[in-house]
Amino acid sequence: MQRFQSYINGEFLDGEARFQSIDPATGDVWADMPEAREADVDSAVNAAERALYEGPWARLTATQRGKLLYKLADLVAANAQKLAELETHDTGKIIRETSAQIAYVADYYRYYAGIADKIEGSYLPIDKPDMDVWLRREPIGVVAMVVPWNSQLFLSAVKIGPALAAGCTMVVKASEDGPAPLLEFARLVHEAGFPAGVVNILTGFGPSCGAALARHPKVAHIAFTGGPETARHIVRNSAENLASTSLELGGKSPFIVFADADLESAANAQVAGIFAATGQSCVAGSRLIVERSVKDAFLSILKRKAEAIRIGAPLDMATEVGPLATKRQQDHVAALVEKSVGSGARLVVGGQRPDADGYYFPPTILDCDGVASPSLTEEFFGPVLSVVSFETEAEALKLANDTRYGLASGVFTQNLTRAHRLMKGIRAGVVWVNTYRAVSPIAPFGGFGLSGHGREGGIAAALDYTRTKTIWLRTSDDPIPDPFVMR
Ligand code: NAD
Repeated sequence: MQRFQSYINGEFLDGEARFQSIDPATGDVWADMPEAREADVDSAVNAAERALYEGPWARLTATQRGKLLYKLADLVAANAQKLAELETHDTGKIIRETSAQIAYVADYYRYYAGIADKIEGSYLPIDKPDMDVWLRREPIGVVAMVVPWNSQLFLSAVKIGPALAAGCTMVVKASEDGPAPLLEFARLVHEAGFPAGVVNILTGFGPSCGAALARHPKVAHIAFTGGPETARHIVRNSAENLASTSLELGGKSPFIVFADADLESAANAQVAGIFAATGQSCVAGSRLIVERSVKDAFLSILKRKAEAIRIGAPLDMATEVGPLATKRQQDHVAALVEKSVGSGARLVVGGQRPDADGYYFPPTILDCDGVASPSLTEEFFGPVLSVVSFETEAEALKLANDTRYGLASGVFTQNLTRAHRLMKGIRAGVVWVNTYRAVSPIAPFGGFGLSGHGREGGIAAALDYTRTKTIWLRTSDDPIPDPFVMR
């Protein structure tokens, strides 16, 4: 059995307790993990605070911070295959995706390495002749980062990269489900030469570890990715330390297909949007909104593609859909499909959990036209697509916006003016037109409504890890005039 450690103050430690990690492809225990609770969280946050104000990190120039980030990027690239195998083993996410995604994670670190010495302050054209006034941009402080089990290296890179560029120090809490790749990544942080305490990585359970981190008095900002219910706990806890928050939450993203779209290409994008990563993607295009005149034609293409998907062992390069990450997730998906069918949704394909070891669930399509199916409003985080149809563009937009989430969306049409109207009308943080599930370190990402607030990616994300300090310098040698009047 593989054994992992947490990384606190530059040291690899066994944790306050231990727990076991299960391989979702087999249901068997495969690794032994360190469990952090309140005491480990406290020493990690204290180490981060010392590193922020007292350690060598505080004295590094921004360019030196950037060089460390470049080194980290190179190490991630060099170790991508090993990290990918660990992620696949621990979460069931297919190796085909983890190996490509982690190689790309290196580019996120590279992007923020370049930004480190481009975070500038400013000089203000102040309205007083004897004053010079500047804004300095300083690191926001100790950052708590809490991530879910899907794509932990990716979801942490979009936080760690900009936070390091800004000069912050941090405690990263890996999910208790599938923490192996992030705990292994700590070895690369160490090897890159970041001073002790700058990046601390641990794992543990939500109520005992995540909550202790979110309410810790020395935490200045909480960067969270996960579900909306957990986000509410985090925000309540942040009432203790008054930390700022950025929240990347779930979605029920609309995928709109007009009759004039290239249906074959749109179907490929829909497969990417709902069956890739076994649907365990926050941006899953889980609500297909299709023009009625092409509904049958589009569903028959989708059905053919869904039935041809190769389901199998996640470590096999040929596999296209692997297991879900946990038994809990498999039960949730199966129960929501059952509830939706019970409410009148019609199964087009899939729907039955296979009689196999591991937490598999097949690609599933539910025709929900005319039905108030819970599958249209609740997030599956699994390979289940719900379908409704429309007659007019206005109806399509209304259906698309009929959700409290607002993370992503897709529009498939050849009509340019219509595409422009929809990209303005859709209430979501990302609109993909004639494509889906594309990301880049250069492009901001984040949601509206229940999908959260704050943006990851892009230059502004690094600025979000800074706070400004206003410096006033009086340039006159004359004595200060009337001290009883505010100047
Ligand atoms: P989750 O909310 O259950 O857990 C996420 C993290 O929060 C875990 O590390 C967990 O231990 C921790 N946590 C749990 N309770 C806590 C508490 N009381 N205080 C502090 N931390 C706590 O999410 P999940 O089920 O692991 O992941 C799936 C969810 O994540 C889905 O809703 C999905 O859409 C969302 N997600 C969003 C994005 C995005 O970028 N918007 C990306 C991936 C996943």
